[in-house]
Amino acid sequence: MESGTSNDTGSFILSHPEEQPNLTKKIEGGSAPSHYINRYHADHDVACAFCAKQTPHRRGYTAQMPDGRIALIGRDCASEFFGKERASSWEKALKAQEDRRARRRVVERAVASVPSLLVQITPELVSIERQCLDITCAITEGMAGRQPQVLRRDNGDWDIVADDRRVLYTVAAAAILNAGRTRRHHLAKALEALKKLSAIDATTDMSDKVVSRMLDLRTSLIADIESGLRLLRRCARFYTANNLKALSRVLASIDSGITRVDLKVKSSGTFVRLTDRGIRIEGFDGGYLREAEHATFPLPNLNELPSSEQILALIK
Ligand SMILES: [Zn+2]
Repeated sequence: MESGTSNDTGSFILSHPEEQPNLTKKIEGGSAPSHYINRYHADHDVACAFCAKQTPHRRGYTAQMPDGRIALIGRDCASEFFGKERASSWEKALKAQEDRRARRRVVERAVASVPSLLVQITPELVSIERQCLDITCAITEGMAGRQPQVLRRDNGDWDIVADDRRVLYTVAAAAILNAGRTRRHHLAKALEALKKLSAIDATTDMSDKVVSRMLDLRTSLIADIESGLRLLRRCARFYTANNLKALSRVLASIDSGITRVDLKVKSSGTFVRLTDRGIRIEGFDGGYLREAEHATFPLPNLNELPSSEQILALIK
């Protein structure tokens, strides 16, 4: 099969069909194929085994005879000798076979890419994602009650427009604050998918059902890797001292449960610190004020994220 090329639609087209072993050069008149086993598009003339003149042609099929012989048949000869209907049913069956083979190959490639993907999508990366989502959710929930509408502006400037009903603000990558508690842990899902794929033995004959399931798994794996790494890149842009200072200015001016978010650099690492508003409780004896409290979250190192292009090149 080295003489063939696989194109994007997944069909496998031979360019030197005459090199196939055990070809029968001439098929006696009246004998019809049972089906096609492949198609060819040669850049030179090859001889048809079915017509008396062995018409030279470039496009055709390798036909399987009911007795096991195989022979080349020109595309036009097929419908001429056996009728359009039969020729097109053989063609359709071949196409279905090619599609099945192409889908299988995509799964095989995905399975083959698992070991190198597991070098990149590690439990450490999954825990970085979890930490990022923890901080982001804590901020979002801290602001609760007054969820500002987040507008993204890539120049990093802030526009704060306060009115009675809502506060608009923009900051580079602040759209991540839309992350809620139910946000999908994409890289965790990707790691799960990789483990499932690695359990597949692609050398055995997979049923169409298994192939379909694995193709779906591959699709969601790719989407999860892209989304997960995108979130981490946005977090890398968002969690800077300047951005958090700007966020704190907004929080102080709105009715938010947290009033300040800042970065704390310690010898043990960098932390994001949330400061809440404190609580005032009115009572018989005049009331009680709980002072503002802090919550701290470790900020993972986001400086050495793998590139999604590189990772996805492994599987695509
Ligand atoms: Zn012919």
